[in-house]
Amino acid sequence: MHACSCTDTHDTRRVVLTGGPGAGKTAILEFMRLAFCRHVVILPEAAGLLFGGGFPRNQSPVRLRAVQRAIFHVQRELEESTSGDNAAIVVCDRGTPDGAAYWPGPGTLWDAVGTTAEEELGRYGAVIHLRTPSDANGYNFRNPLRTETVEEALEIDETIGSIWSRHPGYVEVAAAEDFLVKAREALEILRGEVPTCCRDSVSPSFVV
Ligand SMILES: [Zn+2]
Ligand SMILES: [Zn+2]
Repeated sequence: MHACSCTDTHDTRRVVLTGGPGAGKTAILEFMRLAFCRHVVILPEAAGLLFGGGFPRNQSPVRLRAVQRAIFHVQRELEESTSGDNAAIVVCDRGTPDGAAYWPGPGTLWDAVGTTAEEELGRYGAVIHLRTPSDANGYNFRNPLRTETVEEALEIDETIGSIWSRHPGYVEVAAAEDFLVKAREALEILRGEVPTCCRDSVSPSFVV
């Protein structure tokens, strides 16, 4: 994040960065934080906040449902917390629809929290889906909170795609051998979402 001379009032637009485990989302968000101006606000991941804070976690359906409802509400409030920031873009580290990929049933996550898939998809202006690499190592950033195998990671990535691809602003970023190629593509897409009043404040070394 760096200086920006823009004094406009922005219509805040939410952009989701999502992807299966190992897709490099955390590192790309870090680049985004460095490359864009203060009017591009980057939110933390709701699941990361909860698990990092010790929210009880195991594979029992009761726990899985509690976790996903908690993530949903934390995500909603994270987004709400930026409403006074005059942000041009709020980058969400996953959005509320991602939780549907982890919902064990019965019923849907949407029923459980009193909303619909359409309403939740409609909260976001654009969706950048970073695909999980299919090789065993992927982008191994040694995330200590990660518990999935490669096969599970790919399956989750597929499910995330099936949830978000209905969104009219859905864009996929393929897994590239060179991680920086993938990162640059994601940054370019985000730059395209930034309004012209703030676009000149993008740090060029990150996007050329
Ligand atoms: Zn601006
Ligand atoms: Zn700005």
